[in-house]
Amino acid sequence: MANRLKDKIAIVTGAGSVGPGWGNGKAAAVLFAREGARVFAVDVSPEAAEETRDIIAREGGDCTAHQADVSRSEDVETLVARCFDTYDRIDILHNNVGILHVGGCVELSEETWDRVVDVNLKSMFLTCKHVLPHMERQGGGAIVNISSITSIRWLGVPYVSYSATKGGVNQLTQSIAMQYATKNIRANSILPGFMNTPMVAKSLAEFYAQGDVEKMIQIRDNQCPMGRMGDAWDVAYAALYLASDEAKYVTGAELVVDGGLTCKVV
Ligand code: NAP
Repeated sequence: MANRLKDKIAIVTGAGSVGPGWGNGKAAAVLFAREGARVFAVDVSPEAAEETRDIIAREGGDCTAHQADVSRSEDVETLVARCFDTYDRIDILHNNVGILHVGGCVELSEETWDRVVDVNLKSMFLTCKHVLPHMERQGGGAIVNISSITSIRWLGVPYVSYSATKGGVNQLTQSIAMQYATKNIRANSILPGFMNTPMVAKSLAEFYAQGDVEKMIQIRDNQCPMGRMGDAWDVAYAALYLASDEAKYVTGAELVVDGGLTCKVV
């Protein structure tokens, strides 16, 4: 343990994983704990949050698992209050939750559009709404929001609700960064590229390869300049940096973690 987050209290949303393996939120929660943070692990699935807590506990870290749907106002108010009651402060807010539905404007139902907006964008508004007053009173804090390179590029998949909400995440983050710059509260977003996580297997295998996960992985690997997708730890290490005091002069940034994919034209 290098203690890069020693004694910090960190809320991580979507701290479980949609399937076996390592999602971005699960990796971030475990990495934050390895670096000395006490982690408040939030997930809509209680089992997924508990699994992350158990991993952290086995490694000798401190984690509280909490079930919440972060798109729901009451759930967010409760989770922030419980984190504060448990640990007495909130230093880091890591907004990792995001869902993906394939579909353009014509194909996507209005109901799915609304759900993606609520889960990907409104959730971050809600967590910031309830966490920022604590950070302001404490005299500082760090917010890390997970966006995607689809917020700035067409990636070959028509997922209009996903791209639009991730664009919103970038601007939400910059607005907070500017409003709170003099208050020692930093807000940054991470724009992951193609990452090989359980979420991708669940949401994109059908679009790429009629449900064949191995084939989908091969196709996406081939599209990346390094010949392979990144993984959850690549995103987690970027989040660790932005959450830590090492990034004390970094705010309003959009950190691209994509193995060079956004540099590529063909
Ligand atoms: P994940 O494994 O799908 O999600 C993590 C956890 O979040 C899951 O346990 C999931 O529960 C939970 N969750 C979903 N909706 C929730 C809600 N409303 N409230 C609370 N928890 C909720 O995803 P991940 O791999 O950690 O990645 C998440 C983030 O990375 C997303 O923001 C995604 O957009 C971003 N990202 C990923 C890639 C990539 O290629 N993998 C690229 C760019 C950006 P359930 O399983 O029960 O739904």
